[in-house]
Amino acid sequence: MASPSKGGGAIPKRWGVYVHIPFCRQKCFYCDFASFAGRERDEAPYIRALCGELRREGALYRSRWGAPATVYIGGGTPSVLPLHLMEELLVNLREVLFMGDPSAMEAVEFTIECNPGTVSEAGFRLMRQGGVNRLSFGVQTFDDALLESIGRIHTARDARQGIEWARAAGFRNISMDLIYGLPTQTLAGFRRDMEQMLALVPAHISVYGLQVESGTVFARWQEGGKLLLPDEAECEAMYDLMASRLPAKGYERYEISNFAKAGCESRHNLSYWQDVPYLGLGAAAHSYLDGQRYGNAEQIEAYLDGAADGSARREEEPATREIQMEEFAFLALRTSQGIEKERFQKKFGATLDAVYAEAIHAMKKKGLLHESKTHVTLTPRGMKYGNLVFAAFLL
Ligand code: SF4
Repeated sequence: MASPSKGGGAIPKRWGVYVHIPFCRQKCFYCDFASFAGRERDEAPYIRALCGELRREGALYRSRWGAPATVYIGGGTPSVLPLHLMEELLVNLREVLFMGDPSAMEAVEFTIECNPGTVSEAGFRLMRQGGVNRLSFGVQTFDDALLESIGRIHTARDARQGIEWARAAGFRNISMDLIYGLPTQTLAGFRRDMEQMLALVPAHISVYGLQVESGTVFARWQEGGKLLLPDEAECEAMYDLMASRLPAKGYERYEISNFAKAGCESRHNLSYWQDVPYLGLGAAAHSYLDGQRYGNAEQIEAYLDGAADGSARREEEPATREIQMEEFAFLALRTSQGIEKERFQKKFGATLDAVYAEAIHAMKKKGLLHESKTHVTLTPRGMKYGNLVFAAFLL
């Protein structure tokens, strides 16, 4: 076992914490995340183990870097936790990461992901009192029949009710996720979803195109010819609608899948894209420090077995220089800022041109990339056909 506490270097501007809650009430049919249904009996030991990991690793990070700039509790479904366990988790996070410092608590962006089928008014009040100031709602669609057909456990009414409760509890920074390209979904249906979401005036919106991932129920249905997905032209039309409608309503696209009102960009997501240190807690969580990655055991049992002595956390094979360059390029290209040439050169000791001149030239010719003196960014067309650009940036 290696600890991410070693190493020196300049104090970074910020660091982030990711907490993984792997429990869900039911597995959605498209989901390949590290999440499990029917494991309620593991919730209490899991939170206990995670708090132990937090006290060990979090204290080390904190002593080195001070309080984190962002905390993100994701999953799985964090909001599925019983309130006493949610409280235990929040109290521990507050004690270890902020040590009762109210100014650090005020400055942090502290997000919890919520499934609208697992939320309550009391839960939101508890989260707010525990320092959480941002919520991310997995709405996905407002079509109840479609929600059921993709394995979601909630209705559109649950989503609206949840958002009302969250606002009553004092949450102002609310994000919503939608998915397009769902089975049987039409452009008209997706347009209705967009309008219903916009009517709720979230601060931040994430929109993802459905990907059929192996090992999911959808993948099985697809193999059996039973997955009725909209065709490519219809999916493109949904994409075009999203790409034009959201900016027209004042949501700036700051990353391929993410849109925000001014000042409401997810700082946590941006920190991943900007290559800052982060500490991952819980099963399947990853940490990154001094260029080294650490990965936790993915299965709940393995995590619980190894959490006490730290053996659930393993140093990952160092990425080759080529892989680091690719990842740097992919992550930066996803953002509206694009690749900053100077940062690339500082990090790798080679100019962006020396490594990627050919790819940049080819993608510019296709109208997918824009190059300035300081940056290389995706054009609107490049955002749409991002996969072509990413393929060109493979070394
Ligand atoms: S609620 Fe989220 S994490 Fe859980 S199964 Fe559904 S998509 Fe996956």
